[in-house]
Amino acid sequence: MLSAARRRAASCYSAARAAGGAAWDRHNGRSGTGAACPVVPPLGTTAKKGGRRALSTSDSHTRPQPTALLYLYPDPPGGYDNIRYLREPGEDALPLAAEGGSAACYPDGQRLPAWPSSSGVAPPLPGALLGCVSGELGLRALLTEELGVELIVTCDEKEAREALGVAQVVVSQPFWPLYLDSEALRGAENLELVVTAGVGSDHTDLAAARELGIDVVEITQSNSSSVAEHAVMQALSLVRNFLPSRQRVIDGEWDIAGCVSQAYDVLGMHVGTVGCGRIGHGVLERMAPFVGPSGRFMYTEQHKLPPKNEAQLGLGKGAHYFSEVAEMVPHCDVVFVNAPLTAQTDGLFDRDMISRMRRGAYLINTARGRICDAQAVTEALDSGQLGGYAGDVWYPQPAPIDHPWRSLSRGSALTPHVSGTTLSAQARYATGVAEVLHEHFVHPGRKRWPEVYNVVKDGERAGVGARSYSEEALEPIVSGTAKPAR
Ligand code: NDP
Repeated sequence: MLSAARRRAASCYSAARAAGGAAWDRHNGRSGTGAACPVVPPLGTTAKKGGRRALSTSDSHTRPQPTALLYLYPDPPGGYDNIRYLREPGEDALPLAAEGGSAACYPDGQRLPAWPSSSGVAPPLPGALLGCVSGELGLRALLTEELGVELIVTCDEKEAREALGVAQVVVSQPFWPLYLDSEALRGAENLELVVTAGVGSDHTDLAAARELGIDVVEITQSNSSSVAEHAVMQALSLVRNFLPSRQRVIDGEWDIAGCVSQAYDVLGMHVGTVGCGRIGHGVLERMAPFVGPSGRFMYTEQHKLPPKNEAQLGLGKGAHYFSEVAEMVPHCDVVFVNAPLTAQTDGLFDRDMISRMRRGAYLINTARGRICDAQAVTEALDSGQLGGYAGDVWYPQPAPIDHPWRSLSRGSALTPHVSGTTLSAQARYATGVAEVLHEHFVHPGRKRWPEVYNVVKDGERAGVGARSYSEEALEPIVSGTAKPAR
């Protein structure tokens, strides 16, 4: 039987739902459900780190009431039940991600997430909105009915921080991140697992997680193609001066000269990517037909790709490697940022780096807001040093109302953090989260989800974390929730 306070906490999600989603608070730039959640009392007597123990399957008898916290973005303002989908959720709503000839695999052969087959619960309908509070990642029946897990679902930061006292698992999304710094992690007495519903776990202090023995996983590749599509769309939009031209139509103008005096072809352009992992690779592949035979590709990485992989990039055009970003950018007309936010990439595109770029070049950042200095980008657009800036990542998120990128006058194509949370991506990452949570609660300590999902496991870098995050990259970059925009 749940205590009254815990039952109330668990129903925070329904309060948000009843309120038709979170109201935007213009004063502090955050959203809230408008419904106050009670303080959730800590449960059990689980020892803290240094007393935090590695779990074994036998621990299931002694663990406190299993509790999962889902910190998800707010429902649409019109209410979850009033969404009018373009394609009704169901089997026909989403084209299969049948790249590489298989509906079960990503292009590189990694298998797609699979709904836990041993569960008696049906997966959520493909094409339904799952990433917001009422969507609950489609996990409610699986977690509460099948696994007996108490579920706390909220978009309210205060409520989420209170629930941190009891949760063994926290799931949040880069689109609506619950910033977990060292202090927050240390205070989360029962926390065993932090799951990123998506890709990119920089909102969690990975060094502290490692020290505390808290595992961190993400649903690797679940939204990489979604982001690559978005980044290419934004690059084309900037180079072709699409958005201002569209605006002129809406404004009742027919100013052809005004539209085209800022418009170019992508054909023949030189394109660089900082980071050539899953998204970077996808971006170059998608850009290849546009730049054509006279275009050029360049990339930087921590580890140079094998020649065979370099040759495959861009329909056989090959890509030139630079060990330093500063050496690559002077050769590029378009630069994409596709590297994780780490201590090395934090503020990478500052005034100095932008001044090394070709005058009028375009910068597309769908990786993380803090990789580009907000003020330096703004100045470079004003001066014409940057031809355009696009992306969908900000710092902090949600972006404050006075964030300088909200009022850029020219050359911008910015969206809120949406590229990796299309309905298609949600179906993949929600299924991946279901797989991880099912394993975690049914077989505590076994951790048999795909190895590549791991960022930190048993106190060490592992999986995607071992490859894409260097040792130095684990220096803490997360501190609190509200650093001013840089
Ligand atoms: P991957 O892990 O596949 O690729 C990241 C690549 O970045 C790796 O190949 C790594 O190279 C490289 N890298 C790491 N550090 C550096 C560095 N200092 N300089 C240059 N390259 C570096 O991840 P994804 O491609 O799937 O995602 C990349 C990032 O995109 C994520 O970390 C996340 O921040 C962001 N993202 C954004 C989303 C959105 O919705 N906007 C959604 C998903 C991801 P190496 O092998 O050399 O270590």
